[in-house]
Amino acid sequence: MPRLLFVASEAYPLIKTGGLADVAGSLPEVLRQQGMDVRLLLPAYQHVLETITPPTPVAEFDLAGTRVRIVATRLPGTGLETWLLEHPVFSQRPGNPYHDAHGNPWPDNADRFALLSKVAAAIATGQVPLQWRPDVLHCNDWHTGPAIALTHLQESRPRTVFTVHSLAHMGLFDRPTFERLGLPPHFWQDSSLEFYNQCSFIKGGLVYADYITTVSPTYASEICESPGGMGLEGLLRQRRERLVGILNGIDNGVWNPAADPYLEQGYTAETLSDKTRNKSALQASLGLAPDSDRPLVGLVGRLVEQKGLELILPVLGEILASPVQLVVLGTGERRYEQQLRATAAANPRAMAVVLAYDESLAHRIEAAADIFLMPSLFEPCGLNQLYSLRYGTLPLVREVGGLADTVVDSSPENLASGSATGFVFQRPDAADLLAALRRATALWHDQASWQQVQRVAMSQDFSWQRSAKRYLELYNSPD
Ligand code: ADP
Repeated sequence: MPRLLFVASEAYPLIKTGGLADVAGSLPEVLRQQGMDVRLLLPAYQHVLETITPPTPVAEFDLAGTRVRIVATRLPGTGLETWLLEHPVFSQRPGNPYHDAHGNPWPDNADRFALLSKVAAAIATGQVPLQWRPDVLHCNDWHTGPAIALTHLQESRPRTVFTVHSLAHMGLFDRPTFERLGLPPHFWQDSSLEFYNQCSFIKGGLVYADYITTVSPTYASEICESPGGMGLEGLLRQRRERLVGILNGIDNGVWNPAADPYLEQGYTAETLSDKTRNKSALQASLGLAPDSDRPLVGLVGRLVEQKGLELILPVLGEILASPVQLVVLGTGERRYEQQLRATAAANPRAMAVVLAYDESLAHRIEAAADIFLMPSLFEPCGLNQLYSLRYGTLPLVREVGGLADTVVDSSPENLASGSATGFVFQRPDAADLLAALRRATALWHDQASWQQVQRVAMSQDFSWQRSAKRYLELYNSPD
């Protein structure tokens, strides 16, 4: 049975701050079900240790001058053996994995994730007292980039795959920090981890991995050009033949409108009228007017520039006047939160804003809304538009990254051919967003056509089984 070590800084449901956790919580389990012998390696954050049943010790050893322990648990709801890296830099740190309560990065993040990387590389190359050694090392995002680079210091190393979930975070640290980490001095070169006089953890993966993947085909192309490549486009172009875009899947068990425990009323493509019960329930619970004559627009996500807030906020008044109701769930930058909250306070029957992280409400919005708004400036894959498709909540998106690969515009031709699943606009321009919203609103008033699009949206297959097959091909492809 081929062995896989999958390394990430977060995995649902143990610890989640974004889409990476959804992937790390699903893909390794599906690969296990498809016959691989998989270990998921995560840091043992304090919060994680508090939520699991007592873990089993796996190994304890000295590495890079410090004592580390590996303990095993099962990822809740799966059969996946999960190894937790126990060390005080993780286990004695409350709250968010990456930053303090004020949003400032933990000052020793370089040391923390260098340690995760060193442990992953040591396991992958058989440098630790463990009976188990992987055939494939699959690392994710900047936190684990150095692991791939470090495997190159050994004669015998596994196949390596590095997945970019977002290039926006590169793990950049200054020279004194690099020197403190005890990485080989030759890593400080442009052809290695050095990046404009800083050390870039993500380059460890991009330079050294046998295969680089990213989470959608369009994003794979975008990062080979400026501005999507954020300065790394030259390197990525050099490695284009080793760079593959594989769309993320979604967990069809967790996101299933027919059997979602958070919903007022479950529904399927055959019982779409039941979906409206969720709309009424959400309107009531958030104090919105019980209108059934206008669409409800939902937005769930991080309230940051990337998600297109600069396109939405200048035309919030026009959006509400289109006319629609709007519900926003998210947390993010203060200035965005304040403006959203102020507009909702002035229009309490038409707009509701919940500034929180709330899994249950995210599900209820997906089920209740008619339209899901996701006008991102860039979007490596995006999960919320996939959940929306499955819930028959038509996504309105900008044609970028994974959004471009997953949503088919309701143009007259696509409506006629039966392929339309949502609404797509091109330019990062608020006027174009508004025009798309007006098209969506007009189609919503033609319920027969709307429901036809809903049914096509709900029949799309974004299961992990499909994506996992692509990863297996990479793991097994000849060098
Ligand atoms: P990103 O990873 O860029 O934040 P994605 O769309 O890929 O965006 O994934 C975001 C994930 O986080 C989704 O599962 C989404 O439902 C969830 N999410 C984001 N913000 C919230 C929130 N405030 N409450 C509940 N879930 C949220």
